[in-house]
Amino acid sequence: MRKTFGKNEILRGIDLEVGKGEVVVVIGPSGSGKSTFLRCLNLLEQPSGGDIEFEGVSLLNNKHNLDQLRQRMGMVFQQFNLFPHMTILDNITLAPRKLKKLSAAAAGDIAHGLLRRIGLADKAGSYPGQLSGGQKQRIAIARALAMSPAALLFDEPTSALDPEMVGEVLDVMKELAAEGMTMVVVTHEMGFAKEVGTRLIFMDGGVIVEQGKPADVFANPQHPRTKEFLSKVL
Ligand code: ADP
Ligand code: MG
Repeated sequence: MRKTFGKNEILRGIDLEVGKGEVVVVIGPSGSGKSTFLRCLNLLEQPSGGDIEFEGVSLLNNKHNLDQLRQRMGMVFQQFNLFPHMTILDNITLAPRKLKKLSAAAAGDIAHGLLRRIGLADKAGSYPGQLSGGQKQRIAIARALAMSPAALLFDEPTSALDPEMVGEVLDVMKELAAEGMTMVVVTHEMGFAKEVGTRLIFMDGGVIVEQGKPADVFANPQHPRTKEFLSKVL
């Protein structure tokens, strides 16, 4: 896949196949194109070249329904992106009601189940502004799960959090991974990458420089740029 902004080629040929149940962790320096890559995957950005195949369907060569695609491929952002004027319950039930046409009761049941699961059952009537960053991010994950996605994309989900809240969000992500959720995770949390990642991708300058099993890449990086990056973050 390729992506150009104006004259700048930001993604310079990314070729990646993610299997069902894989947890692919993407690392790399700031500006290397990690967010652009995730945003292209669910067509928040239109790729300039190449193709994306998801659930057996080519996304760029076919007419398809963007809403349907995003129901099947959820995304969790660094800044949570919750709707501030809506309660937690409404944040979670909005998409299932509007896109899946679920009744308020059916969507509510799903939302309450998810809230129990992430330990926030008592927050259904709260507003995002009343929650901590870690709670907001867990709600954002629940909101994505409410659509029963086949895959979840995470763009630095813990980078905006105070350190003491990182663990609670990573714990939810670990549980999802253990349940077999297919995930692509951009993160600087090397512990998570090592423990949960089935594959580690090092991106730099809009290309995949190196990839492999996380423990292997950490212990024995092959490329000088990977070595340099890891020496700064490990
Ligand atoms: P990363 O997430 O790895 O930090 P990004 O994907 O955010 O990197 O950005 C990669 C490069 O693409 C940066 O140089 C950034 O300035 C550029 N870029 C990202 N989005 C846009 C955009 N909408 N318009 C122009 N340039 C962009
Ligand atoms: Mg980014």
